[in-house]
Amino acid sequence: MIDMHLHTKQCRHASGELHQYVSAARDAGLEIVAFSDHLPLPGGAETDYAMRADELDGYVRSVSALRASEHSPRVLLGIEADWMPDDRAHAERLLAAHPFDVVLGSIHFVDGWAFDDPDLIGEYEHRDVDELWRRYFDELRAAARSGLFDVMAHPDLVKKFGFYPEDDPRTLYEETARVFAETGVAFEVNSAGLRKPCAELYPGPDMLRALARAGVPATIGSDAHRPDEVGAGLKEAARALADAGYDSVLYFEGRKPVERGIRGWL
Ligand code: ZN
Ligand code: FE
Ligand code: FE
Ligand code: ZN
Repeated sequence: MIDMHLHTKQCRHASGELHQYVSAARDAGLEIVAFSDHLPLPGGAETDYAMRADELDGYVRSVSALRASEHSPRVLLGIEADWMPDDRAHAERLLAAHPFDVVLGSIHFVDGWAFDDPDLIGEYEHRDVDELWRRYFDELRAAARSGLFDVMAHPDLVKKFGFYPEDDPRTLYEETARVFAETGVAFEVNSAGLRKPCAELYPGPDMLRALARAGVPATIGSDAHRPDEVGAGLKEAARALADAGYDSVLYFEGRKPVERGIRGWL
């Protein structure tokens, strides 16, 4: 199996060193993993959301050293980059400056609010959930169109805490799937949702079906923030993909997609 989404303690809200994730991946029998820790945020922001600006080179060096080693699993150099509509040049510059295998694009902020941060959950009392969902999917489509990203990570992250809109979200899923198909980005089936209040994969069944109908290719990742989460839930993810009609997923090398069959994982 493949796990295209691993963090490390460098981003300040995950724990564990690179080598601990690699051993966990080996123990889980994974063949290929990609580290995809959080790209520094614009403006040198010192938050617990991402690595600091001066840590990126070290991250790239350490993951590249693992990538060059011949031990299993194979390690790829990825990064998870926030879509920042007001400063896309920031990510553009950092992404161009490093030899990433894969760039995951994420929406963790809508109009400046980190809507998936448990510390900011109180903000939901003051927000219109329908409006949040519309804005979230607007930004997700804009991110896909930006051309910055290979894969749209956890594409329905907005459901994390289980706040669902009154309007049927399937229209949003379909519009979004159409844009993904037009722009050529892949999406990720991310098993972290299973460990969150929403208690289902990102994306859930309706969005996954919309993406499958539009013919958007998939990747797969645990979004591990602790070594013991490496590979967690990937069987469920592969099963959901197979049920939606997929028989393969993508991984990326040097930002080029490579296809891998999933039948043997079920
Ligand atoms: Zn994270
Ligand atoms: Fe994320
Ligand atoms: Fe992540
Ligand atoms: Zn993530």
